[in-house]
Amino acid sequence: MPELHLKQKTSNNFNKLKKRLQREVGKAIGDYNMIEEGDRVMVCLSGGKDSYTLLDILLTLKSRAPINFSLLAMNLDQKQPGFPEHVLPAYLDKLGVEYRIVEEDTYSIVQDKIPEGKTTCSLCSRLRRGIIYRVASEMGVTKIALGHHRDDIVETLFLNMFFGAKLKAMPPKLHTDDGRHVVIRPLAYCTERDITRYSNQREFPIIPCNLCGSQENLQRKQIKQMLADWELQYPGRMTSIFNALSNVVPSHLADLKLFDFQTLGTTAPEEDTVFDPPEIAAPALGIYKIG
Ligand code: SF4
Repeated sequence: MPELHLKQKTSNNFNKLKKRLQREVGKAIGDYNMIEEGDRVMVCLSGGKDSYTLLDILLTLKSRAPINFSLLAMNLDQKQPGFPEHVLPAYLDKLGVEYRIVEEDTYSIVQDKIPEGKTTCSLCSRLRRGIIYRVASEMGVTKIALGHHRDDIVETLFLNMFFGAKLKAMPPKLHTDDGRHVVIRPLAYCTERDITRYSNQREFPIIPCNLCGSQENLQRKQIKQMLADWELQYPGRMTSIFNALSNVVPSHLADLKLFDFQTLGTTAPEEDTVFDPPEIAAPALGIYKIG
């Protein structure tokens, strides 16, 4: 029957998507040693698709992991007008996961300090970060898990390059400036497209992210559009850029702090190919190099 067939197909596709996300999260955790025996991991839950997906996948992986670790969900209620404060507790109660809702009126502080028409996100994020770190200490947390994904990481790379003149992205694992906390991003290998599809199918109770009235950062929006256009024109480009982040050749950049150019010429020669031809998967021949 066509309707039954369609349902079966949808369910198969969802299972494939779920498995892919679980595999990618598991690989990121392993590659960067994100979670270790005995860790207490605090998952920061905003009510958006990314953090719901992160918690969901981590709960599944926890039930199968060969190591013991605990999960604590944390939401910061920033007192934005219209914030539906019952949504997350109801969801988390149903899941049976330990959680903490922290109420701090950062909304009023931001409104008070930032002149009208100016971007509020940088102060808001700074305040939020401070509260998250404080709560992590109070709750004996060893790792703070954030829901940033591969596309966020690539966007940040271009934001830093275009507007900050820095070759810097968003690392999968980070020691905070004060050295007291370790931040992990287990969705680092997951695409936003997969996360959106997963979140839609799982019907997470999404809380809108525009309650504060602020617009998405204009520069990030432009970068997002640029990357989407590239991906449309050259499918696979996002993956290629992301892979480049774990394949850095310091001798072919120009950072004096990363490579000793001063003594170059007195030591063994470096590999001197400036442009590495792309590796293309050819169906019948396997992987071969062009050129
Ligand atoms: S969009 Fe609103 S809540 Fe989000 S960081 Fe910006 S000011 Fe804060």
